[in-house]
Amino acid sequence: MPRYDFRCRTCGDTFELSRPMAESSDPAACPAGHDDTVKLLSTVAVGGTAGSGPAPAPASGGGGGGCCGGGCCG
Ligand SMILES: [Zn+2]
Repeated sequence: MPRYDFRCRTCGDTFELSRPMAESSDPAACPAGHDDTVKLLSTVAVGGTAGSGPAPAPASGGGGGGCCGGGCCG
């Protein structure tokens, strides 16, 4: 189930909700009970909470056969 980020304009809190996509645009109340909330774009890192960038290509250690990483050269 996708998660959606919301921001409360009353208290400024941000929170996440897991809800079906069909309900993605439904109003959501913040944990403090305010219902003046806006939905934020999720899955796009806007707050600098990145940490899951693309994995770097593994440096080949010297086999060249693509086998030594899997433990079959042992
Ligand atoms: Zn609030």
